[in-house]
Amino acid sequence: MRLPRVECPGCGRDVAAAPVPGSPTKGALWRHDHPEQRRDADGALVSCPSSWETVDLPAGTGQMELDLDQPHPPGALALF
Ligand SMILES: [Zn+2]
Repeated sequence: MRLPRVECPGCGRDVAAAPVPGSPTKGALWRHDHPEQRRDADGALVSCPSSWETVDLPAGTGQMELDLDQPHPPGALALF
């Protein structure tokens, strides 16, 4: 599954955003490195403070909408 990319409000980089269950217009920014300090003094990775922050997904990546006024969309098989 290809995740949409969203500009991180903390560091400005384009970061993948995972869908938030139950909120088709929201995404959780994927964990990514801190923009200035990749590792701490002990060598552990440091995350951007905005990692896992909930953001708005770009339009068009939300839930698919169905046209209920059209009983048989073009190309659909009639099963009954
Ligand atoms: Zn960031």
